[in-house]
Amino acid sequence: MLTENELLSFVEKMYGSSGRKIIEALMKSKTGMGIDEIARETNLRTNDIRRLLYEMAQEEFVITLRSQRGESMWYTYRWYTDTGIIKRALVRRLRATLNVLNERLEYEQSTTFYICPNDYTIYSFEEAFENGFRCMHCQSELIAFDNKSIITFLKSLIEEIEKILKALSINEA
Ligand SMILES: [Zn+2]
Repeated sequence: MLTENELLSFVEKMYGSSGRKIIEALMKSKTGMGIDEIARETNLRTNDIRRLLYEMAQEEFVITLRSQRGESMWYTYRWYTDTGIIKRALVRRLRATLNVLNERLEYEQSTTFYICPNDYTIYSFEEAFENGFRCMHCQSELIAFDNKSIITFLKSLIEEIEKILKALSINEA
């Protein structure tokens, strides 16, 4: 189970301490906040707040609420988030990362790489084969490149993200 503080530390990793301050301010509000209110609460500059809110809205860590001002044509926009919204956004982002890592792992596991010992250019098996196992740049003989450490690294990242996702989904249920 992820605590609120752990969620916030993820937000901080992605959007910095300013992003975290904005999210913390919004989480205290039940009805959402305007940019000026957030500025008063966080002491951040409105330009920075606006930029961060748009970034966070793109990944749906925050949403906008629109309300009509009385009978007029004017709408006011307020920014809103809660722990459910943040968790769902985090799950989406981590799943996307996991997909990329799994594809990369599959690629690393299925391909042998070759490296030029002279200029360190890396070749896939196909590329090395097409060039007669010689470097395209300097004609040095290529040597098989051990990508075990990359595979180990990818596996540990995947394991870590899966663990976080598991904690998030237990929370969500
Ligand atoms: Zn070379």
